[in-house]
Amino acid sequence: MAAWFLRGIRRGVVTTRYPAEPEPSARVLPTPPAFDPRRLTDALADAVVDACPSGALTRDGAFLVLDIGACSACGRCIAAGGGAARQSGLFELAATERAHLVKRIPVTGDQR
Ligand code: SF4
Repeated sequence: MAAWFLRGIRRGVVTTRYPAEPEPSARVLPTPPAFDPRRLTDALADAVVDACPSGALTRDGAFLVLDIGACSACGRCIAAGGGAARQSGLFELAATERAHLVKRIPVTGDQR
């Protein structure tokens, strides 16, 4: 019999204590990217858009647009982002309106 089942019977708790206590597995969860506008050049912004398999990243003029609702947290943009992108660590992403999941990130990196 699985140890977790016996532990659950003994403790009377079979789930984690989240959100009352931090969820320990959150440290290893893949999360959507966060971008540093100061390091984000036009070339890097185009590269991360090209790398995104789900269409979560698009360009709108001088902005990179991230649709977190379409992001699968695959990490390809982080690999292609040349240091301008990192894991955000954010996993509490519920929103009451779809538009709240869309972020506009200014592309202000040195264009040299
Ligand atoms: S993590 Fe993957 S799906 Fe999400 S924005 Fe980056 S490339 Fe697109």
